Amino acid sequence: MAYLGTPAATAEIIRKYGFSFQKKFGQNFLVDANILNKIVDSADIYKDDCVIEIGPGIGTLTQYLAESTGKVIAVEIDKNLIPILNETLSGYENVTIINGDILKTDINKLVCERNQGRPVKVIANLPYYITTPIIMGLFESHVPLSSITIMVQKEVADRIQSGPGTKDYGVLSLAVQYYARPEILMQVSPACFMPRPNVGSAVIRLVKYEEPPVTVENERKLFALIRAAFNQRRKTLANALANASYAPENGKEVRITRQQVCDALDKMGLSLTIRGEALTLEQFARLCDIF
Ligand code: SAM
Repeated sequence: MAYLGTPAATAEIIRKYGFSFQKKFGQNFLVDANILNKIVDSADIYKDDCVIEIGPGIGTLTQYLAESTGKVIAVEIDKNLIPILNETLSGYENVTIINGDILKTDINKLVCERNQGRPVKVIANLPYYITTPIIMGLFESHVPLSSITIMVQKEVADRIQSGPGTKDYGVLSLAVQYYARPEILMQVSPACFMPRPNVGSAVIRLVKYEEPPVTVENERKLFALIRAAFNQRRKTLANALANASYAPENGKEVRITRQQVCDALDKMGLSLTIRGEALTLEQFARLCDIF
């Protein structure tokens, strides 16, 4: 099977199978060999690695991965793509195709069965409509993984990488940075996809920490606190948290008084008028432990 990473080869296979792109599955296939090579080169993969690819589409990136790594497990939701994948990946014995929804797949079980529980690398040109649940699902379910290299909407890559005091800084930045070190690898123009998306894209790599960079007594409580702080990001932290009720454990609502927030800020030597967007991950962890 010839490489698919060109507009002509992609159009040909799509025509052959009478395939129609499904917007609801975020189907924008890569048709630029230069970008495909760059993704594989920068994904830091070796022959003894096991890669999970989310959404292989017609198998374009999968072909490149199969040649550079030991094992590829590709999970694709669209059953109409399975016959195509069976053809385009027929020459690769190291690829397993699974027809399923990644959000409903027990990835821990998959890693256990297919890679003896050893850490995998996740690589994907993600369907943009579920980028955040996929990333957070991988981290929060504690799947054994060493890195995630993904194509996402440029704006999402900026949000993931940004730090305190910037307009992009928020829940996603803090949640990802608790688990991994993010690095934007490249910007990708809409012209590299078929059909072209309406937004710019970027490839970002998240290298998972062995241990989170901050210690906190209760991880769930930390994330609940961060969500509450950014729910009303224009307010001061004291007002945002005092107005919020948040549910750190088993849906049990917890309320903090304005006075409690002010006392905690005082204890940390922070201004009482500070906003959540100015706090570092470490300061959120400290605040959480004080509460
Ligand atoms: N990897 C291919 C490429 O780069 O050309 C296709 C990428 S396309 C942006 C996203 C792919 O994810 C599509 O094939 C789509 O059908 C698949 N997809 C969408 N939602 C999914 C889900 N919940 N689980 C698994 N695959 C999904």
